[in-house]
Amino acid sequence: MGNQTLFTTRAVVIKTQDFKENDKLVWFYTENMGKITAVVRGAKKSKSKFLSLTLPLCYGEYLMYKGKNLYTLQEGRILNSFQGLLDNLDKLTYSSYLCELVDIACSDEESNEYIFKDFVTTLYLLNTDALDYELLVRAFEIKLLRYTGYNINLDSCSVCGKKISTSNYINLSNYGGVCDECPKENGTYISKGGYNALRFLKNMHISKLYRLNLNSEIKNEIERVTTFLISNNYSKKPKSLEMLKYIKE
Ligand SMILES: [Zn+2]
Repeated sequence: MGNQTLFTTRAVVIKTQDFKENDKLVWFYTENMGKITAVVRGAKKSKSKFLSLTLPLCYGEYLMYKGKNLYTLQEGRILNSFQGLLDNLDKLTYSSYLCELVDIACSDEESNEYIFKDFVTTLYLLNTDALDYELLVRAFEIKLLRYTGYNINLDSCSVCGKKISTSNYINLSNYGGVCDECPKENGTYISKGGYNALRFLKNMHISKLYRLNLNSEIKNEIERVTTFLISNNYSKKPKSLEMLKYIKE
């Protein structure tokens, strides 16, 4: 191993790919270094100690070192495999979407402890069935957008800057509400209920979401806003969005 330094980090497996004959490439979203790619030697062998540690969604503590191009996984310990999420099509689809979204929204080795915390909390809540899956995912989307530079401004007009308490329009190129006087352009109308729910989802900690109960019309309005912002601001559109639509029907 030469002079390579070992380090430990908590992380979630967000994507995997076969690599060479027996190895796997694993994309981790880590607590300390953001998204990283690691090679896991022998991970495809059935008796490998790495098999369960590198399943999609696995949350663990990982010991790695950085090589010339990639990280290498040395050891690991599972904190929660979240494999219960795979038993149910809705949960599987939502959790796969979360992983894809984190992969698309985050650049390599750019750490953000808020994204990490909210990501893990969202997986825990999805796993326990404590909350409406859709609301949970919408809240995570809004927070992730905010942490990656697309903060939805709901407290002042996104055109003139005047303070507003509510609005019936979201300007999607300015990421925010529009006051009564400003033109309603480049965006979408939204009900007062939808606007307030959007603000609630943005400001409320994910673990407090059980206080919110929204009808499907409002949930659809919010989805329209987040889907637009995600599809138009990140370099790739998440493929699992289509699957999410399908399971909702
Ligand atoms: Zn205005």
